[in-house]
Amino acid sequence: MPALTATNANCLEGLACPSCRAEDAFDITVETIAGLTDLGVDHTRDIEWTQTSLITCCSCQRKGTVEQFTVEVEDVLITDEEIENLIEQAGFGIIHWAESAIVDFDEHTYRVVESDDEFTDNDEPADETLTYAQLRRAFNDLRRSDQLPDFMLREIAHGDIRFDSEIGDRIVQQAMFGEHKYS
Ligand SMILES: [Zn+2]
Repeated sequence: MPALTATNANCLEGLACPSCRAEDAFDITVETIAGLTDLGVDHTRDIEWTQTSLITCCSCQRKGTVEQFTVEVEDVLITDEEIENLIEQAGFGIIHWAESAIVDFDEHTYRVVESDDEFTDNDEPADETLTYAQLRRAFNDLRRSDQLPDFMLREIAHGDIRFDSEIGDRIVQQAMFGEHKYS
């Protein structure tokens, strides 16, 4: 059973599977310099990957980009399934300030359009396509600043997480605005 928080501290620091939380082994499409002779590859060096490199979890075969697998050390690892539960609940919470919200289950994104009914100052309505990785970061930002109720972490640990609409709304607002803009 993978740990609930990110623990890698060496070569795989900041990487964890967003489906099963595994952190121990990945296949990554890398760029490298291969020293070749007529007999074949003699050696390789300078192995590199970027945020857009393709990665596969060796435990559950989930594929994606390195960006989608990126976490911060000590972050609670919220899975894609939990993020989708969060988005579903957030839909009921953000309704008082958002115009629309669309989930893309393949791209793992959540597009939220702020309603122009809620205009303050003279700013344009925000139209943000949030990645699941951004929602995870927002969850952890709120957790680190003690803005999430204790029971959330207990529920994650027991694998029966149920975000309510208010918490979902808070996390989406944190991801979009970096603050609690509408209460
Ligand atoms: Zn996995």
